[in-house]
Amino acid sequence: MSQDIDSTVYKTLLESTKAIPWKLDWVTMKFAYIGPQIESLLGWPQASWETSEDWSSRMHQDDRAWVIDYCIGKSLAGEDHEADYRAMKKDGGYVWIRDVVHVVRNEDGTANSLVGFMFDISERKKTEEKLLCLQKELEDFSFKDGLTGIANRRMFDSVMELEWTNAKRSKQPLSLIMLDIDYFKQYNDFYGHIQGDECLKRVGQILHGVGTRARDFFARFGGEEFALILSETDEQSAKKVAERCRNLLFKAQIPHEKSLVSQVLTISLGVGTIIPTHQDDPRKFIEEVDKRLYLAKKKGRNCTVEADL
Ligand code: GH3
Ligand code: MG
Ligand code: MG
Repeated sequence: MSQDIDSTVYKTLLESTKAIPWKLDWVTMKFAYIGPQIESLLGWPQASWETSEDWSSRMHQDDRAWVIDYCIGKSLAGEDHEADYRAMKKDGGYVWIRDVVHVVRNEDGTANSLVGFMFDISERKKTEEKLLCLQKELEDFSFKDGLTGIANRRMFDSVMELEWTNAKRSKQPLSLIMLDIDYFKQYNDFYGHIQGDECLKRVGQILHGVGTRARDFFARFGGEEFALILSETDEQSAKKVAERCRNLLFKAQIPHEKSLVSQVLTISLGVGTIIPTHQDDPRKFIEEVDKRLYLAKKKGRNCTVEADL
């Protein structure tokens, strides 16, 4: 295996990251380089990575076929790509890897070599698997709100805890939207409690699909208050989702004769975003967003507050 990296500085940098750098020659399918970190992650010594065979044979058999097909296809097309797969450890266990690949091309556009980084994404996968389990549990009565059929407060607490831990680790922004129906007491008083219940169901249905990403999570927080957890979402995007909620509900034109802000049902919203650290507490964050919702009420209702006034 030839050492292709000429500068010792680059070499030191590359070999001190958690991500594992590698280079594969496209014609010979031989590794020109792979970072020594590979041994501590998978147990196979650095020198044992000679050809692409060593890579493909040390992969979970359920991932192997599609990963190889996908990577070859993309490389032939000269397109950068990434693939998640389970790499096999020397001791027989598996580690989830995200392989991010850049295709170095010859002048005629054909592939010359592939360079990439392998990232250990086991923790992220664990979170995703736990979330999937929770989603399945949502089918279970205990996580479902009896009236609206959407996730209940208990489920909200579980998802919040998981996303909080995840955001802390990944240092990605986590956003929360809290929303509350305006003048709902008057709605109940005028239309009756049964129609009030029907109205809550409608609101649940209308806003259920508002988050477009698979991990966006919508729940009934309590009474006529709902919450939306948006992982890996910054403040501006969260504000947009909040405004989408308000518009969606407005478009539904649910009559509310006794509302003091409109002739149709409206909501007020509070939005907050955080990259949690060890000093932060999810309960405080929820309280902060709830405070913004209260400010939106004070501001005149039917609006969104994303920062303290
Ligand atoms: P604001 O604009 O300040 O939010 O005023 P509001 O009247 O909506 O606020 P408040 O929180 O004081 O009242 C909430 C009402 O929602 C009172 C409660 O009876 C009603 N409510 C809560 N849960 C349910 C429910 O499951 N069904 C029905 N029909 N009403 C509910
Ligand atoms: Mg209300
Ligand atoms: Mg309320």
